[in-house]
Amino acid sequence: MDSALETQGRQLRLLGADVSILSSSDTALTAAEVSKSEDRILICSPTLFQQVKHLCPDAVCFRPVNKDGDHVPIASILYRFNVHFNTKNILSRCLVCNSEENIKLTLEDLNLLQEYIKNKDFTILNSENENNNFQITLSDMIKSGINVKFREDDNYYFTDKSKAILCKKCGTIQ
Ligand SMILES: [Zn+2]
Repeated sequence: MDSALETQGRQLRLLGADVSILSSSDTALTAAEVSKSEDRILICSPTLFQQVKHLCPDAVCFRPVNKDGDHVPIASILYRFNVHFNTKNILSRCLVCNSEENIKLTLEDLNLLQEYIKNKDFTILNSENENNNFQITLSDMIKSGINVKFREDDNYYFTDKSKAILCKKCGTIQ
């Protein structure tokens, strides 16, 4: 897995695709096994492609590079596999952990989170105030040890705050 592929994987997730991103320490054998056991299409570098094909000739593999070695655009990958995506799936999935379990945040929720994270103070959630559903869920997440944080990524910025989500699995706000 190289960084260009990782970026493409996250772009696909952004569109709502179920993408599992392997780490750079994973071997061709792991990739072949994941592909087989989870019935996934492998999008991999030309080197890994050859290794996987050698180990597992019937694995569905794709090298997203053109003949000049440049990465092809995401649209080509979607076209290649005849993937149709629904606009309502956009931003439905966590870009960090791939989970679909998330809370859509209102601007008010977002401001609250910003304030809490800045002050590193979530104690207000433990008080007996009348918390709304969002605050109750947030409180439960924090109690179960989930680290609630904004996504750290140089390439990332909020394009549309009204579409922000909080991943219930890994606690990333994105
Ligand atoms: Zn997540």
